[in-house]
Amino acid sequence: MSRFLRTEYQPLKAYVPGEQPRDMAYIKLNTNESPYPPAPEVLSAITQNEVALLRLYSDPTCLVLRQKLAALHGLNADQIFLSNGSDEALSFLFMAYSEKGAAFADITYGFYPIYARLYGAQAKVIPLEEDFTLDPEKYFGQEGLIVIANPNAPTGLCISLSQMESILQANPDTVVAIDEAYVDFGGESALALLDRYENLLVVRTFSKSRCFAGGRLGYIMGAPALIADLEKLRCSTNPFNIDRLALVLGEATVDADEYYQEKCREIITTRDATAKALEALGLQVIPSQTNFLFVHAGSIGGESMYLALKKRGILVRHFTKERIKDFNRITIGTQEEMQTMISKIKEILL
Ligand code: PMP
Repeated sequence: MSRFLRTEYQPLKAYVPGEQPRDMAYIKLNTNESPYPPAPEVLSAITQNEVALLRLYSDPTCLVLRQKLAALHGLNADQIFLSNGSDEALSFLFMAYSEKGAAFADITYGFYPIYARLYGAQAKVIPLEEDFTLDPEKYFGQEGLIVIANPNAPTGLCISLSQMESILQANPDTVVAIDEAYVDFGGESALALLDRYENLLVVRTFSKSRCFAGGRLGYIMGAPALIADLEKLRCSTNPFNIDRLALVLGEATVDADEYYQEKCREIITTRDATAKALEALGLQVIPSQTNFLFVHAGSIGGESMYLALKKRGILVRHFTKERIKDFNRITIGTQEEMQTMISKIKEILL
């Protein structure tokens, strides 16, 4: 760090993403990517002409993709905000609404506290219950912004629609953002509440269920007035945040929705079978509605399990936070990858 960095940024600790090894020698189960390729129509969507058009800027309004997403979800295009991955969407949420603070769980997506610091928001960290469930009443009467990952990461647990509604009702003057990065793998979507709550925003990503982590597309759905706030900030930051190729690929992705629904069903089947197999080995598995499992490592400890798996060519995600240090988060891969992972865990536990 240089002495030139603004004083307010000097104490920042940047987010550290899961390892992204270059050599592909690992079975990679550490960043909740899809094991499947994008749909065939997406694979063939980029023509030479699309590449030639890169000399021109992309559409700063992303209108076609917003219209397609609006049609998919039964909304209007002015209710959709597009971002470069949902991380960028979350960044704009904290930039826009955290003046009076930001409330989120102690065990949840690790980027929330980082955005809170970046934008100088007072973080109100609300501990999950002993069993990692979330008590909605602890979110009543919060100011500024509430962010809830539902299903949650890294636990995989959900809150119900009525629990979400109780939080919205108790906080009419607070923006409530539900981060639905994993909702295509289970749980209820807050979308059903959108027409009744002007303070609700729903955040989605193409990264997991749309097999598009490297393409960087995310979006927020909500009332036009809130979307207009976010647009103002986006256009004050980078109006061309979505590049031309991502737009073309994103449009083809929305058109191929059935392919992705089928892949989600496959992942859910593999997830449930994997959970059973791990439980049969005597390990505690938190019931998951996502494309990952949060698995207690048993007596060997979370970090030793992570390292032993890595030595055997399998990357999972280990977190050092005290409450969860004996767990690992294991992304659901293909059935074969899961079988290999289970056999390696068996070997480690012997
Ligand atoms: N929200 C949650 C809960 C996540 O786990 C992730 C993935 N790390 C994201 C948002 C961001 O994903 P992306 O930026 O790839 O859309």
